[in-house]
Amino acid sequence: MNCSHQRTRSHWVTTDYYGEETQGHWEHETVSTTEDIDIHRYRCTQCKQIMYYSGAAREYYETGVDRKGLFQ
Ligand SMILES: [Zn+2]
Repeated sequence: MNCSHQRTRSHWVTTDYYGEETQGHWEHETVSTTEDIDIHRYRCTQCKQIMYYSGAAREYYETGVDRKGLFQ
């Protein structure tokens, strides 16, 4: 799966000219699809991939060894 962990949110924007709606255009913004699930790690809500804020955090969750003392 190829996920960018982002999605584009689009909304139609209109311009009022003295109370009269003239023309509109689409506005697009890129928003992240990740959410924090634990201390030092987060997950993409689209592809469910779990990511870590640091290598030490990954090591802790994968091996249970907290070498950097992140979780004390
Ligand atoms: Zn993703």
